[in-house]
Amino acid sequence: MTAEQIAENFESVRNQIKEAEKKSGRKEGCVKLCAVSKFHPAEDVLAALKTGQTLFGENRVQESFAKFTQINSVSKIKPDLHIIGSLQTNKVKKAVKIASCIQSVDREELLAEIEKQCAKIEKKIEVLFEIHTGEDSKSGYKEKSVLLKSVENCANGIYPHIVPKGLMTMAPFTQDEKLIHASFSKLRNLKDELNKSFPSLEINELSMGMSGDYKIAIEEGSTLVRIGTALFGERDYS
Ligand SMILES: *Cc1c(COP(=O)(O)O)cnc(C)c1O
Repeated sequence: MTAEQIAENFESVRNQIKEAEKKSGRKEGCVKLCAVSKFHPAEDVLAALKTGQTLFGENRVQESFAKFTQINSVSKIKPDLHIIGSLQTNKVKKAVKIASCIQSVDREELLAEIEKQCAKIEKKIEVLFEIHTGEDSKSGYKEKSVLLKSVENCANGIYPHIVPKGLMTMAPFTQDEKLIHASFSKLRNLKDELNKSFPSLEINELSMGMSGDYKIAIEEGSTLVRIGTALFGERDYS
């Protein structure tokens, strides 16, 4: 895709986010855009940076480490990277070096490793807890009691280098909008519940909504949409 096409896509998606905010009676600018650049080359990220986009999402650490190291070396404007894909423990060391937020924390073991690696480089990192809310996705916390234990450990100061900011989910891939609404409203309700139970934490971010369902997500209270295809085109997995 050319830089011009990418710029057009960003303008169009930003306008649609604005419209969805308005339609849902939400404040203009309350939904942030995370541009998912996985499987797209560094040039595409540079084209997006030129449009004023600074927040990017990647799901594979190895691939994004090389890509974003390159981007950082050539671009004056520095991108802000979130890891959004399931993260193996042995990739955490690299992940915390390049990312400002891990959106896909789905187990206690991962929190412990993030803490360990961040402590080594004296870096604080933000995290979102990924929640399993729909049938299709395999990732995310499934047992509420297990999630509560992780959040409680954060609230108790066991992980001083970790700043929990909110929740993330993927809705089921379906045409049935009711199921998509249900998935997103489940995440919103869980956030409200965590805020009551853990007032010392600020669990406010709701990372939900992708190319196919971000308008529904905005209706349901999303504060951060993760959009790839609508911005950069189809991914070439070959
Ligand atoms: C790939 C991916 C996205 C973006 O999906 P699109 O449908 O291309 O917008 C969002 N979130 C996660 C976790 C992803 O892996």
